Amino acid sequence: MVIASDYYRTTLNPTESRSRPPLAGSLEVDVCIVGAGLAGINLALSLVERGKRVVVLERGRVGQEASGRNAGFVAKGFAAGDLPLISKAGLAHARELIALTKSARKLIRKRIDDYRIDCGPVKDGVLTVSWHDDPQKMQDRINRANDAFDLGYEFWPRLRVREHCNTEQYYDGSYSPHDFQLNPLKYLLGLAAAAETHGALIFENSEVTDVVRDGARWKARTVAGIVHAKDIVLCGAASMGGLSRRLAYAMAPVRTYIMVSAPMDESVYERSINTPLAIYDTRFASDYYRRLPDGRLLWGGRVSLFSHPANIASLLTQDALKVYPQLRDHLRAEFAWGGVLAYPQHKMPLLARLKDGLWCATGFGGHGICPTAVAGEVLAETLVAPALDQRRLLELFEDFKPGFVGGPFAAVGAQVIYLWWRLRDQLGI
Ligand SMILES: Cc1cc2nc3c(=O)[nH]c(=O)nc-3n(C[C@H](O)[C@H](O)[C@H](O)COP(=O)(O)OP(=O)(O)OC[C@H]3O[C@@H](n4cnc5c(N)ncnc54)[C@H](O)[C@@H]3O)c2cc1C
Repeated sequence: MVIASDYYRTTLNPTESRSRPPLAGSLEVDVCIVGAGLAGINLALSLVERGKRVVVLERGRVGQEASGRNAGFVAKGFAAGDLPLISKAGLAHARELIALTKSARKLIRKRIDDYRIDCGPVKDGVLTVSWHDDPQKMQDRINRANDAFDLGYEFWPRLRVREHCNTEQYYDGSYSPHDFQLNPLKYLLGLAAAAETHGALIFENSEVTDVVRDGARWKARTVAGIVHAKDIVLCGAASMGGLSRRLAYAMAPVRTYIMVSAPMDESVYERSINTPLAIYDTRFASDYYRRLPDGRLLWGGRVSLFSHPANIASLLTQDALKVYPQLRDHLRAEFAWGGVLAYPQHKMPLLARLKDGLWCATGFGGHGICPTAVAGEVLAETLVAPALDQRRLLELFEDFKPGFVGGPFAAVGAQVIYLWWRLRDQLGI
């Protein structure tokens, strides 16, 4: 059987799936954004909502990379994690950063309502389940995170976890009632359409080949056009290496995978994944999954550093069956795909001024939906009123500079770290 890779595209209506023309000729705007993933489109919307003239240039289609291929978990925090952020930034600073992502969660819901973005059902609740029998560790973690950040996590004892997840593989859980799930490609395309209604111009099939100074301004060139802008923001994630060597060296590309099954009967779910919640486990390379509205199961997991394996569907099916052996006669993959995450060494987004008028909003790793909404607002505030105290918002990200993750050796280093953490997962350390 042929496994397709474009599940989310099959959920689009004709308006959402329309293509956009490439850039042709020359344009003059306030801000030119490179990349139409969640980072670029969130920023475009935040800027046009504040009256800026904006162009977005996308190499392929809007959402063709991680932003249109992800699992759709909308959770506060950053890829760095909430408690590790305290050791990276100190408690007060970490509180301000996490608070930004809590308000981003509200902003996402507000935009879905205000712009009538059809990316639902938006289902509340994300459950983190422990792979190891250590309730005290789970409880301590919840207490520390709630004390530090007022996150509202609830401890779920294993019996309650197993009412939702009928497997002996899991023990206790941490339930986050305010996190939620959505269809990420429909969400992104809804944001893009909203930005366009405010005047943003989005061009597809328009790869930016270079960005250069143009007197006091900048210009971004594509094969068929040029955009002149006061500011350029690089939002191209792991694949825009040619535009900024500094950014290319600051992010390790990490690949991760998703499989979507054929629809399964409700009775099958009642005996296995008997829950509408989005689930992930506590291991370093965790499984993450949720039921889709059409009866399918979305199952994600695994990482690799060099290339996508050929048999993603069967690897992820085996992972799912390890947790839910009762799905053996029912689980059949129909879609499978990989995506690339861009990880800075500190696992925090790179929101920075690279040069006067040249900025970046990238490096969101495996946790991008909330942080890209944060980044859009922070950079928009900075670009709209650069002299005012809004700049302070950007300062919150100053400690997380584009560093050096190893250049051409980044993947080797990341592979070693990944194998080490997998070993720890297996040993239960
Ligand atoms: C399988 C998978 C599951 C995930 N699950 C979740 C999840 O459940 N929840 C969550 O919060 N996050 C999740 N993530 C992470 C999240 O998707 C990313 O953090 C986020 O999408 C990053 O957005 P971005 O805009 O920075 O990058 P991208 O989506 O990669 O967008 C960058 C865009 O820039 C374009 N581009 C690059 N170079 C150029 C150029 N020179 N000219 C023009 N355009 C260019 C690319 O074509 C691309 O469209 C997941 C990611 C993957 C891969």
